[in-house]
Amino acid sequence: MSQEWNIRSRGHVCSVCAKPLVDKAPVVSALRETPSGYDRYDCHPECWKAMERDWEPFSVWDGVYFAPVKAPKSEPVKKEDAGELLRQLIALDDPTMQNVVYVLAVMLERAKILVERDAKTLEDGKIRRVYEDRKQGDTFVILDPRLRLDNIAAVQQQVVALLSGTKTLGEVSGVDGEGAAQGESGTPADEVQPETA
Ligand SMILES: [Zn+2]
Repeated sequence: MSQEWNIRSRGHVCSVCAKPLVDKAPVVSALRETPSGYDRYDCHPECWKAMERDWEPFSVWDGVYFAPVKAPKSEPVKKEDAGELLRQLIALDDPTMQNVVYVLAVMLERAKILVERDAKTLEDGKIRRVYEDRKQGDTFVILDPRLRLDNIAAVQQQVVALLSGTKTLGEVSGVDGEGAAQGESGTPADEVQPETA
């Protein structure tokens, strides 16, 4: 497993029978771990039940399918920006940003934008958490670096700086540096001390 996190979009047709999923109807979603990441399955519950498979899902959960809607943007801009920022960060696939990615995901969960679907503890004690976008149904597999409480505030400041546009991704990535790459090192991810050497 080379990638620490992943995005998988929800399908709009059943992964088993290939017929469309029904708006507001139950859907079973599953992630299958592969050497290159995750395969995602979205199925009619009865199709999932009937599906013959010789593999165990990394994660499986019951949800409700919502057909995509092109609605006028009535939501606060900030929330959409935060979700967009998370997608950008995940697409960057930068290990030094894993603290920022995780804290942003937690903030989005508290804002009821994401819901945590599953959590798996890894051998090194870190946790891989599966978040799902409540509306769009996209899945985010995010590494929980087990931040110490006194580090979270500093990371939160970086997230807020990114959201407010006072810092760019490059600036935060550079600042977060080595300390963030080793979550267990205990090095404070302190944004006011860029020179840690
Ligand atoms: Zn089906």
